[in-house]
Amino acid sequence: MSELVLYNTRTRRKEAFRPLEPGHARVYTCGPTVYSAQHLGNMRPVLFADLLVRALRMTGLQVTHVINVTDVGHLTQDDIDAGEDKMEKAARESGRSAADVAAEYTRQWLDDRRRLNIPDPDVLCRATEHIPEQIAMIRQLEDKGYSYRLEDGIYFDTAKFPRYAEFAGVDPEPADGESRIGEVSGKRHPADFALWKFAARGVQRQQEWDSPWGRGFPGWHIECSAMSTKYLGERFDIHTGGVEHVRVHHTNEIAQSECALDVHPWVQVWMHEDWIVFEGEKMSKSLGNIYVLQDLVDQGHPPLAFRYFFLQAHYRKQQNFQDDAMAAADRGYRRLLGQAAAVREAEGAPDEAAAAPLRERFRAAVFDDLNAPQALALAGEVARDAGLAPATRRALLLEFDAWLGLDLVAADPPTAEQEADPRIDALVAEREAARAARDWATADRIRDALAAEGVTLEDSPDGPIWRRS
Ligand SMILES: [Zn+2]
Repeated sequence: MSELVLYNTRTRRKEAFRPLEPGHARVYTCGPTVYSAQHLGNMRPVLFADLLVRALRMTGLQVTHVINVTDVGHLTQDDIDAGEDKMEKAARESGRSAADVAAEYTRQWLDDRRRLNIPDPDVLCRATEHIPEQIAMIRQLEDKGYSYRLEDGIYFDTAKFPRYAEFAGVDPEPADGESRIGEVSGKRHPADFALWKFAARGVQRQQEWDSPWGRGFPGWHIECSAMSTKYLGERFDIHTGGVEHVRVHHTNEIAQSECALDVHPWVQVWMHEDWIVFEGEKMSKSLGNIYVLQDLVDQGHPPLAFRYFFLQAHYRKQQNFQDDAMAAADRGYRRLLGQAAAVREAEGAPDEAAAAPLRERFRAAVFDDLNAPQALALAGEVARDAGLAPATRRALLLEFDAWLGLDLVAADPPTAEQEADPRIDALVAEREAARAARDWATADRIRDALAAEGVTLEDSPDGPIWRRS
């Protein structure tokens, strides 16, 4: 076994992954638009990409991972090329330069990534630093007859690309009579999109550049096509992003790239993660609900408890963030750390016969389209399995953590006001072993002893949770 199988949005099925160049996987991830703080929901795309990159490396592949930072050209109504540029708007409203705004939120995003144990990508590329590459690609499209000019910009002519609707599998034609406020007039087809926008007359922009067509700024989609191919080649292996990008942003990236470069498929595997939803409520500072990673830290959660929360759901499923769910993830994480800490000092060689089937199960979970919940559950199983020698548990947890990224064996269990205590974890594990052996007398005796010191037990799908009452 041990082929990495991934769900490919392009073909709508799971496929064994084979890189174009043997031994080397090239991956591009749509990164943040840095006009505001990157909230918890924005961390799911990068957590997902991290799991993917770690899985690819587990198979022995060399990986080149590129992420962009959008710091220009993303309009407030990006699906119809209307509204204000998000960066310009944020700069105007805060009285700062667009560059300062971008720098602040890029830094916050990078810091949060690092706190979530996400290594920096091999290439981090900013749209404003790749204007010539974007202009060059628009020129290619123009030379091949895929673009046309309107009063406010240069547009891509989607009718010239017969495969346009293929990727998303939807008719790009809006329903009869549908018209959208703010829609650019003169477009040949509603799905046509801006490649280059002219700076509007009388509007002073901070971010604008000269181009063969006039002063202005790039459309949002072109940056991803231009930068990904610059760093990964004209065809590459995997492109990731949020599921909301399938219909417009990624469809448009494909149209531009396949037409400009004469390739198909431009990207072999497209992978999309679903959202974190916030209990039906809009997430905002003013509502006082959780917003950025620091808010969780301020509430006493270690950052990696959020990574643990993320690992509890498969990336293609929506995940509901609630205080309860976060608190449960925090407890689960601390319990796992406590169990791992109990074997941290274990010496001696692991029992290979016992470890091999567990290692295989772990790889099978990871290689089945990155099944994090299953992999995490197995880590919990190993951590509390009193039947496994401590050295074996320690070795397996170290291996598993290369993918999970939870600092299981390296980190000290968090201290203040939390429920991690290796002695109690060991007693709970002992009670579990007794229960498994149907030795109810021992199990009850341990439970009573714990109760006497104010520790109560409750069952959960991941095993028992203990708390001090
Ligand atoms: Zn993109």
